[in-house]
Amino acid sequence: MLRDFVKNEVEPQALEYDRTESFNLPLLKQLGDLGLLGLTVEEEYGGSGLDATAVALVHEELSYSDPGFCLSYLAHSLLLVNNISVNGSLEQKERFLPSAVTGECLGGMGMSEPNAGTDVLGMATKAIEDEPTKSWHLTGQKMWITNGTLDGGKTTGDLFLVYGRTGPNRSDITSFLVEKDMPGFSVGQKINDKLGMRASPTAELVFDKVPIPAENIIGEVNGATLCMMRNLEIERLGLAAMALGIARRCINVMTNYATNRKAFGKPIADFGQIQSAIATSYAEYMAGRSYVYALAQYLDLNSYGNGLDADGTKLYCAQMAKTVADRSIQVLGGYGYVGEYNVERLWRDSKLLEIGGGTNESHHKNMMRDLRKLPDLE
Ligand SMILES: Cc1cc2nc3c(=O)[nH]c(=O)nc-3n(C[C@H](O)[C@H](O)[C@H](O)COP(=O)(O)OP(=O)(O)OC[C@H]3O[C@@H](n4cnc5c(N)ncnc54)[C@H](O)[C@@H]3O)c2cc1C
Repeated sequence: MLRDFVKNEVEPQALEYDRTESFNLPLLKQLGDLGLLGLTVEEEYGGSGLDATAVALVHEELSYSDPGFCLSYLAHSLLLVNNISVNGSLEQKERFLPSAVTGECLGGMGMSEPNAGTDVLGMATKAIEDEPTKSWHLTGQKMWITNGTLDGGKTTGDLFLVYGRTGPNRSDITSFLVEKDMPGFSVGQKINDKLGMRASPTAELVFDKVPIPAENIIGEVNGATLCMMRNLEIERLGLAAMALGIARRCINVMTNYATNRKAFGKPIADFGQIQSAIATSYAEYMAGRSYVYALAQYLDLNSYGNGLDADGTKLYCAQMAKTVADRSIQVLGGYGYVGEYNVERLWRDSKLLEIGGGTNESHHKNMMRDLRKLPDLE
């Protein structure tokens, strides 16, 4: 079903939305009709009740045609919806999930800031409790927020899970659900001229003493770091699966092109260097695919503790996809350098996977921290 949808609906619009740096909002809403926006949400809230393997499959398939569109899907379905589904209270799930799984309400998650990305616990956005009303006032800025604006202008997305500082310690972070019409909540700027993922809207969000009722806090006050780490694991799996989609597409494009393109009287697929580029790409893609789907099998969405391999899959697959996309441009020569065969777009999109959801360097850091705690690998 999904592959047909991608072929018939996602593929035909991908290049145009990349070129115009615009967002296909109606198409994202259509994913709600297919049960994909609430992929991991329990059925009682309108979701599909599926697992991490389904997450990997959907991200690989969407990214095969349009990684930018898929990034917006990921921000909504994993960073917002799955986060509420796993960490929210019964009341919050009843209140927010039904409209989020249909696509009536669309949004994302705000963690990064102008001056704090990798050093996430260094965030400056803070919330102060208003004792008499028990509500909170959130002030600060969030940077690089996918789906921050849905109309490319000053209209924010409908709902965001936003992390804010609520105490003196570095880890005193709380998750707030910020709704579109809350006073003081606005788009600072839409971020334009991105290298890749241009079909996904990115914005800076501004919070000016936004009053947030206590019932919009997810989990405990000062207790967001666990939810954050748990959600980062599934996010990284989704991003690694997106890398698989990019790599698989590039391998298909290269193989077909090399079979048909002739030079010196024979298909370029007969030349050793071209064979090396494609065969090596295939082997690396399959290695990444094995790693991603092996992790997906044991990644329980409600648990925490798969950070080493969530970081590892994304670290490996992001670099793999970028290398494979680069080889595919090389195999196509001049035709690879322009839009027609899509590989230049995929190459640009692949770079984001080395930055968003954690940079390569942050994966190195996290993985070394985890490896040093482990006994010898067997
Ligand atoms: C298109 C796009 C979409 C995004 N969507 C979202 C979103 O929806 N929500 C959200 O919250 N964020 C989002 N982000 C932000 C993204 O997660 C951050 O850009 C990323 O975490 C890196 O943070 P930074 O850009 O502040 O870079 P920095 O953290 O400032 O890093 C700069 C450089 O320093 C390196 N560095 C930092 N610390 C260390 C260290 N200890 N050791 C070695 N090197 C280090 C980094 O690896 C990097 O190379 C998005 C970003 C982009 C580009």
